Amino acid sequence: MKLPKDRKNDYSMEAMVARADFLAQNSKSYINYLTDSSIDPELTRGNIESIIGFAQVPVGAMGPLRINGEHARGDFFVPLATTEGALVASYNRGAMAISLSGGVNVAVTSSGIQRAPYFVLENVFKAREFVEWVELNFDKLREVAGNTTDHGNLIRFNSYIQGRIVYLRLHFTTGDAMGMNMITKASHEVCKYIRQHFPILNFAIESNMAVDKKPANINTILGRGKSVTAEVRFTEQVIRRFLRTTAREIDLAYHRQVTGAQLAGVLGSNGHVANGIAALFLACGQDMANVSESCVGYIYTETMDNDLYVSLQIPSLIVGTVGGGVSLPTQKECLEIIGCHGDGKVLKFAEIAAATVMAGEISLAASIVAGDFTTAHEKFGRNRPE
Ligand code: NAP
Repeated sequence: MKLPKDRKNDYSMEAMVARADFLAQNSKSYINYLTDSSIDPELTRGNIESIIGFAQVPVGAMGPLRINGEHARGDFFVPLATTEGALVASYNRGAMAISLSGGVNVAVTSSGIQRAPYFVLENVFKAREFVEWVELNFDKLREVAGNTTDHGNLIRFNSYIQGRIVYLRLHFTTGDAMGMNMITKASHEVCKYIRQHFPILNFAIESNMAVDKKPANINTILGRGKSVTAEVRFTEQVIRRFLRTTAREIDLAYHRQVTGAQLAGVLGSNGHVANGIAALFLACGQDMANVSESCVGYIYTETMDNDLYVSLQIPSLIVGTVGGGVSLPTQKECLEIIGCHGDGKVLKFAEIAAATVMAGEISLAASIVAGDFTTAHEKFGRNRPE
């Protein structure tokens, strides 16, 4: 048994429906909705293989969310794709608390993406000599990388020597693209150049030190993608009126939760950064697997008189507004709702992502303290089978 394939055009509507029909027959099920989309499968070339249809996920909007960023300034309505009831309502409440408190300040503090090839040398001495050689020849390696792309730049590297193995963590800037395809090609050329000019025994394009699509401390320490930080001073009045609690209660609860997370061995310290990141990524055509490192976030709180100061740091937010899935029809529309599709928009998008996460964090913290966490989910988020 084989999945039908159309050798002439595997992205035609007929090819897609033939595959879906085959699967329906094979599983003795009905496929009605998967193939029922106004989107031309042709448009998915480069994004999917063996297409059988479109997963249609509901998209909600939250806002207005007031953002005082360097690139995102003003009130935004943010599209969020999810099937978790209560999520959009909760982010919406957080957005209201932020906006009434004057908005969220956001800054991107570093930008870049990594590939980390490893090299096998003859022995430890050759390994150390190799790192010195890379340092001396870095300008040439940068030129080799630059020949493969107009938007990618090899900026720096970190090296780690383990016996005769050398790990090079190559750090690139990639314009408005998240950049993994771009830098994989560039890194491969760099590796080939190295092989021609230094007596390495072997290399592999990735050592798992990049670290792509996995949460890791190295991403927190050195940054990956965009490192973004945000802050809000929630006023006493807003906390009382809209969050139905006090600054002191939230601050206390937060610090108790940090200890809980430490006891549990959690990477990061946050309530549910993954919710906002995943819903925004899904709506806006980001690579969903990058949620794994993008959702490592750190919250800090302190009381200021009776106000609550909250800051957030996301050290490894992997986003793009060019390339990947961002120009598929619904994904492009969602990016356009927040003015973030295309050239010159990636820093704005990163700021909006962090601001969105802040809305979710304050709302969740307040609902846990005020005791409406369970009732909100009971009201909005249950779907018991008939
Ligand atoms: P891409 O869709 O492969 O390429 C986008 C291209 O757009 C760039 O190469 C660049 O061309 C061009 N471009 C035009 N205007 C640009 C601008 N303003 N800023 C930046 N680039 C611009 O995108 P990608 O970001 O490199 O890769 C993303 C994809 O990689 C995602 O689909 C992701 O799922 C996938 N991915 C790949 C790997 C891998 O190992 N290869 C790993 C993880 C994810 P120039 O390069 O000529 O400048």
